[in-house]
Amino acid sequence: MSDYILKTKQLTKIYKSGVALDHINLSIKKGEIYGFIGQNGAGKSTMLRLVAGLAFSSSGSVELFGNDDPKALPEAQKRMGAIIENPAIFPDMTAYQNLAVQRLQKGIPGEESMQETLDLIGLSNTGKKKVKNFSLGMKQRLGLGLALLSDPEFLILDEPTNGLDPMGIVELRELLKKLNQEKGLTVLISSHILSELHQLATNYGMIHKGRLLEELTAEELDEKCRQHLQIKVDQPSKAVIVLEEELSTTDFEVMPDGMIKLYHHTDDVRRVSRALTSHDLVIEHLSQNGDSLESYFAKLVGGAEHD
Ligand code: ATP
Repeated sequence: MSDYILKTKQLTKIYKSGVALDHINLSIKKGEIYGFIGQNGAGKSTMLRLVAGLAFSSSGSVELFGNDDPKALPEAQKRMGAIIENPAIFPDMTAYQNLAVQRLQKGIPGEESMQETLDLIGLSNTGKKKVKNFSLGMKQRLGLGLALLSDPEFLILDEPTNGLDPMGIVELRELLKKLNQEKGLTVLISSHILSELHQLATNYGMIHKGRLLEELTAEELDEKCRQHLQIKVDQPSKAVIVLEEELSTTDFEVMPDGMIKLYHHTDDVRRVSRALTSHDLVIEHLSQNGDSLESYFAKLVGGAEHD
């Protein structure tokens, strides 16, 4: 069986207004939480709509659960849950009643799925309270519940943090992590704010103007964004001893060209430079490096603009 839940090959969508998706090759493995990052209008919703079967591609293919036969796609799409547009929530009904409607509409077997879903999304004690009296975070969780009712293996969420306050974002993050860890749920979640998906996503795909600029793991992103001092001196091996003995740190790397990346004392450039020069080392270069998540993304997008 394929390890991949989703693979797109050269997926392209052209509207009269222009190209919304330009030959996208994206892949998501089982168990990943894939953060799909792009500015407004980058093509995120279009991509998710194609995967969920809400729109058709102009060319290219979508492979779901290892099956790329277009005729088998609707069946494979039943194994996933999605919130792409605003979910149809009835404000005058309770959370339970909303789930009951969804269950009937989708023909989901087993009445117990409703209570289980309420427990899962933390709404089991809302009783007779009507949804119109829910907080935005509670409504958001109910929307998620509607998508989870059929016990999907793959969940697609389009900008679910839009309009949520910081607390709501944390709650959503914790819930998705729990579902991922306890039920092995694979998640594709889009956002225009990279830092909102930080601490949640295991993998990232960056999209800009319909093109997938980069795919990378959370570790790779953290490494790229890790604050450090770049140090170039005339005698790197001597500098290493100074760092270890004088500055009591081993949190550094020596690159093949002799450049030292120091991950400790990053806010104390003067102390580092004083320690090096006091041992007669000649500093050829010393700078603070490492992007914030948002500036990393901005640079990536800026680079793509000049292609
Ligand atoms: P947002 O967060 O603003 O929704 P997005 O990254 O989801 O942004 P899309 O909604 O996928 O971006 O839009 C990508 C491009 O395709 C945009 O230029 C948009 O105007 C265009 N587009 C999207 N849907 C349609 C449509 N139904 N008809 C014509 N053009 C469309």
